[in-house]
Amino acid sequence: MRTADDPLPRRSRAQAAPLRHSLPQQLRWSANRLIFYTYIGFSIFTVGLGGFLTGPLMTWYFYGDWRFWRHWSSAKHLFAHAYRMLWWVLQGKNGGFMLNVPLNAPPSTSVDRNRVQLTDSWEFGGSCGPCTRCCSKIRCPILDPATQLCRGYNSFFWRYFNCGRYPSEQSEIDYYLCPKWEMKDDDAGTRRTPGLTAPEPEEVLA
Ligand code: SF4
Ligand code: SF4
Repeated sequence: MRTADDPLPRRSRAQAAPLRHSLPQQLRWSANRLIFYTYIGFSIFTVGLGGFLTGPLMTWYFYGDWRFWRHWSSAKHLFAHAYRMLWWVLQGKNGGFMLNVPLNAPPSTSVDRNRVQLTDSWEFGGSCGPCTRCCSKIRCPILDPATQLCRGYNSFFWRYFNCGRYPSEQSEIDYYLCPKWEMKDDDAGTRRTPGLTAPEPEEVLA
C-alpha cells in the first residue's frame, strides 16, 4: 500500500517467471502465517489483553520493532482495528483482506511490476504522493497522521499480507479506487499461487 518513495527493490526479478518455490519454503511461509493468525486470534479472544501482555511481539509483527513503548500511541489502536477488520472479513469485503493472501505465498516487499503498471495519469512515479486512500479507507492506525507514512514499513505484517504486495488483483484497485496502479492488459487479474518446483536464487525473499 502507501509508500513514500517506493524505495525497496521492485519485485520484477522475483516474479519475472511463474512463481516457483520449494516445498520447505512454502511450508515455512505457511507456518509463519498460521502462527500469526493464532496469535492474533488469541489477542482478539482475550479482548486485547493477550496482545497487551505480549507487547514486544505485537509491535515486532506490525512495526518490525520489539521496543513496544515506542509505538504505544498507535499500537493501542490495533485492538479496535483488529475487531473492525474481523467484522469486514466476516462480511467478505475486499476478498477477505489478509485472508486473501495464500498461506504459502512468499513475503513480498513490492508490487509485481510484471503484472501491474502505473496509470498514465499518475504524476508521482513510484511514490504515492499525497494519496493515503487505501490506508485511510481501512483506518489503519499504523499510518502516521503527521507524516502520512506507514510506520510499519517492511514489518512481518507488511511483507506477509496485502501491504507489501499491493495491488495483486484488480479487485483491490477497485476497492480502494487507487489512482496509481492498474493491472496490465495481459493479466487475468487473479492472484497467482506458487508452484512446487525449485526456485531461482533471486526468487528467495525470506
Ligand atoms: S500497515 Fe497500514 S499504514 Fe502501513 S501500508 Fe498497510 S494499511 Fe497502510
Ligand atoms: S490508494 Fe494507491 S496511490 Fe493512494 S496511497 Fe494507496 S497505493 Fe498509493
